[in-house]
Amino acid sequence: GLLVVGDVVTDVVARHRGPLASATDTVADIRTVPGGAGANAACWAARSGCQDVRLLARVGRDAADWHDLQLRRSGVRPSLIPDDDAPTATVIALVDTATAERTFLTDSGAVHRMCPADWSPALLDGVAHLHLSGYLLFADQSRQLALAARESAREAGVGVSLDPASTGFITGLGIERFLALTEGIDVLLPNADEASFLTGLPEPADAAAKLSRQFPWVAVTLGAAGALVATAGEVVARVPASEVTALDSTGAGDAFTGGFLAARLRGTSPREAAEAGCRAGALAVGVVGGRPPTE
Ligand code: ADP
Repeated sequence: GLLVVGDVVTDVVARHRGPLASATDTVADIRTVPGGAGANAACWAARSGCQDVRLLARVGRDAADWHDLQLRRSGVRPSLIPDDDAPTATVIALVDTATAERTFLTDSGAVHRMCPADWSPALLDGVAHLHLSGYLLFADQSRQLALAARESAREAGVGVSLDPASTGFITGLGIERFLALTEGIDVLLPNADEASFLTGLPEPADAAAKLSRQFPWVAVTLGAAGALVATAGEVVARVPASEVTALDSTGAGDAFTGGFLAARLRGTSPREAAEAGCRAGALAVGVVGGRPPTE
């Protein structure tokens, strides 16, 4: 099975037309959907055929039951720890339908309150792979939890992957510190921006090759241009994106992660894993929100 340790987020998406002016009642189409990079990746891994996908995360009391239900409907076995002192992480996305420009307001809420006490090596019983959401690295307590989980995985011989979250968060931490914290990670899954930012190399292929000297497998996503995988200092696979009518790119990277990891757990080659990632990524850009559709 796959264990994801990460973030559960309530996404409030407000689609409006034209610029927001102060002191007006701008009319918007507002929807609340379940999200979070870690939670989305878990859902897409299950959707991609991975058996026994589990998720460990903290949520506020406000939305714990709703998220639990949504995750179960997507085929994930959640262990959600309700937090009494913080709300569920919430992202307000303001989408201007006139320009497709998006503005995000993020409250990390309970995500950054994950702590080492939330971890137990027994959580790895029956687990073949551990995936960590990069958002955990950016606050003290949740970083300690992520490091404890990685340490247990190392002792148990369980592979570990990481999604580096975003360049904004990495800036806050510093690149050197980020790379030091990610020692022992087997699979790094950055998008092209993050890969270039981490290496200072503008070409994604160069960035992937360089990163693969620290990380055994590096899969870099390239949006509508697909993805590439590097191992041992070399790009070993380039995979085109699947044809799709793009509707909403939210969660494309998370879907790639889910599809990629589901394939890797089946023991596929880097190329086949990237193909599975791109299949899931294309499905994600074809739906509104970041999760696979449920019945
Ligand atoms: P992120 O959301 O992390 O920035 P990307 O935008 O690179 O990630 O997208 C992740 C994956 O989703 C890509 O590797 C690709 O397979 C798929 N994808 C993204 N955008 C498109 C698109 N317009 N058409 C088809 N597939 C896409």
